[in-house]
Amino acid sequence: MSAEPVLVVEDLRVEHPGRGGAVEAVRDVSLSVGAGECVGIVGESGSGKTQLCLALMGLLPPSARIDGAVRFAGAPGGAARAVRGERIAMVFQDPQTALTPHLRIGSQMSEVLVHHRRSSGARAREAARAMLARVGIPDPAGCLRRYPHELSGGMRQRVLIAMSLLCGPQLLVADEPTTALDVTVQAQVLELLARLRREQRMAILLVSHDLAVVAGLAARIVVMYAGRVVEEAPAEALFHGPRHPYTAALIACAPNADGPIPARMATLPGQPPGAAERFTGCPFAARCDRSSERCRREPPPMTAFDDGRRFACHDPLPA
Ligand code: SF4
Repeated sequence: MSAEPVLVVEDLRVEHPGRGGAVEAVRDVSLSVGAGECVGIVGESGSGKTQLCLALMGLLPPSARIDGAVRFAGAPGGAARAVRGERIAMVFQDPQTALTPHLRIGSQMSEVLVHHRRSSGARAREAARAMLARVGIPDPAGCLRRYPHELSGGMRQRVLIAMSLLCGPQLLVADEPTTALDVTVQAQVLELLARLRREQRMAILLVSHDLAVVAGLAARIVVMYAGRVVEEAPAEALFHGPRHPYTAALIACAPNADGPIPARMATLPGQPPGAAERFTGCPFAARCDRSSERCRREPPPMTAFDDGRRFACHDPLPA
């Protein structure tokens, strides 16, 4: 990574209390995001991606135990929690539930600026209108007067993105931002994120279960499995030569961006482990066709290489 980091995460661990003891949702995750860079985080549902985002944003319940370090550039003490909503913002998967149903879009957007910037109502409303225009809402003034249910899913996601950008964040955490949208709108929202990243030099942490979603936008990709990072590499290198068998399996299941959309998506055989599961060796061993006795016995250490690549596997795929 060349640019100055806006976010550095070191050995982050998240545990929740459970009936049979603590449930580990995120384990020893380290990553960084440079200014203006888009980093993708991919993994199946339950791999710890959303828990990682919520930990970064300080949105986990008070009962969660969080260890490790999260440093955000320019924050007092480097704590991301202190700058949430201003220099770091988040866009959620479902724009319907992320907006307040009984408040007009104008009130919800103005409130962000009144709260964070102490703007007057009129100035906040004008800034909201301008931001809606910027994200491609065709009638921004009319949109301000509408309620969320009066907008399409794609428009609601644009509104959420506009709302998250009002305070000019340096980092946008986008957790499955296109999952609830149809394929055409999905492409439009991804194009919008790419444009905003270029124009505002805003870093993006783009989280998705779908490699195809992050493929066009992320310069680097972090692959998570069972709450851990199992591989990280520049996007091109990862797609053309995955070293971790789990990454290779994810790529094999991803639709080809240039080809027709398959009637039925390929899925990875087997189930990802539950958060309460404990491992003595590699967490992917039960689903890996390269697994050996050693894999089941010893956790593979993370090995980093000079080309910006790292992975945790005893028997990686050939380079
Ligand atoms: S450590 Fe072994 S089981 Fe785990 S991914 Fe590598 S080869 Fe497969």
